[in-house]
Amino acid sequence: MTDSHEYDIVILGGGSGGYACALRGAQLGLKVALIEADKLGGTCLHRGCIPTKALLHAAELAEAPHEGESIGVSLSLAGVDMTKVNAYKDGVIGRLYKGLQGLVKSRKVELINGWGRLTGPNTVEVDGVSYTGKNVVLASGSYSRSLPGLDIQGRVIASEQALAMDWVPQRAVILGGGVIGLEFASVWRSFGAEVTIIEALPHLAPNEDEVLSKNLERAYRKRGINFKVGVRFSGVEQDESGVKVSTEDGNVIEGDVLLVAVGRGPATANLGYEEQGIPMERGFVLANERLHTGVGNIYAVGDIVPGLQLAHRGFQQGIFVAEEIAGLNPALIEDVNIPRVTYCEPELASIGLTEAQAKEKHGEVETVEYNLAGNGKSQILQTAGLIKLVRAKDGPIVGVHMIGARVGELIGEAQLMVNWESYPEDMAPLVHAHPTQNEAMGEAAMALAGKPLHAHN
Ligand SMILES: Cc1cc2nc3c(=O)[nH]c(=O)nc-3n(C[C@H](O)[C@H](O)[C@H](O)COP(=O)(O)OP(=O)(O)OC[C@H]3O[C@@H](n4cnc5c(N)ncnc54)[C@H](O)[C@@H]3O)c2cc1C
Repeated sequence: MTDSHEYDIVILGGGSGGYACALRGAQLGLKVALIEADKLGGTCLHRGCIPTKALLHAAELAEAPHEGESIGVSLSLAGVDMTKVNAYKDGVIGRLYKGLQGLVKSRKVELINGWGRLTGPNTVEVDGVSYTGKNVVLASGSYSRSLPGLDIQGRVIASEQALAMDWVPQRAVILGGGVIGLEFASVWRSFGAEVTIIEALPHLAPNEDEVLSKNLERAYRKRGINFKVGVRFSGVEQDESGVKVSTEDGNVIEGDVLLVAVGRGPATANLGYEEQGIPMERGFVLANERLHTGVGNIYAVGDIVPGLQLAHRGFQQGIFVAEEIAGLNPALIEDVNIPRVTYCEPELASIGLTEAQAKEKHGEVETVEYNLAGNGKSQILQTAGLIKLVRAKDGPIVGVHMIGARVGELIGEAQLMVNWESYPEDMAPLVHAHPTQNEAMGEAAMALAGKPLHAHN
């Protein structure tokens, strides 16, 4: 092979972080190689964000008869055909995958299909061929973690297997009440399953402001989703007919499957990172705030960098590194100012500091909780929930926390408010269209500015 294997950037991994870096790098006129062993698009497109959200949309439709009945529209659910649901889900993935392949090609990124290994500060080797870059970006992503001694096999599954199932479990046990566990619980319940979540921490959605966790627990109870919080898993037995899951409080829960949703580990083993002196901790790559690893011109992006494991954080970091390499000195976005959405029913959406974190950082804080009971559109949708704003005393809004149907769509304004350090007094005069759920954000800002409209003083 010739010198055509020399690039400005060689990227290892074609998921959200890696491909965003490739697209932006190419846009900036850099010569980019993107090495991907499996499918361009990575976890998010093929076994993460997109397939789960397709299932959640199917689940929403399966709920329609319940809601319809109460408002005089009689519907009946004839059944859920998982073969067709999966075909719909795979169709969505397929179209996006095709689009992404076209985009990468049109930007003249060189996509190398194969398993890469870092063999030098400038080199990644794939099938005996060396690809040399003035800069190297590590973007190898993450995998579904389990607990020690808990093997993913048979009826003990992780999200990858759950997404590939062509049947709906009648009884599902879910280990973990974080984002992935909550979303599958929501889907399977809507499809008719008996669901039990086991969470070791004191609340479901344990990373959210407590008011969201408590409201979600109330909503899940109402939906008939069982959960045990503050309880540790102790073991599982399985045979052809099902699983028996034991918890440390001496209970046994029976199910058709156990979904293990206890987080994601960094996919960094045996890739040559340690050998090249990349600083690592528990398998994560310890890059600095500008995502440089401290070794040569090697950067890291996405789920292998400790912090929020989210696709849009991967996009942002990929773009950031491409711009950094191109000398554009991009602005930092702290993890805390990255939006977080859990797409279960009801949805959770948040950005910035929780009330407890804000108190720790700013001392005195002011908060307001605007109940969606006062919001016309939410009433029409028959959803309960709230929007909570947190501000530093007399200062800007530093946190927005929301629960309710469709509130994920409100995160856009919330992230502007927090990232632009808006004051409630600046937000209050701005007009929100009526009747939208977005109005509730305006109402919350008005209340925090001391002039509530559709709320009691
Ligand atoms: C079930 C589920 C639901 C999710 N839902 C959401 C959501 O709704 N919103 C959200 O923001 N995030 C969601 N996520 C998280 C999101 O998918 C990840 O944060 C995102 O994919 C991380 O991007 P990444 O580029 O770091 O890694 P990945 O997407 O994991 O990509 C890494 C890529 O590198 C490749 N690779 C690894 N090693 C090598 C090698 N040695 N050689 C060549 N290629 C290699 C892999 O094949 C993979 O394609 C979800 C995740 C899961 C599992």
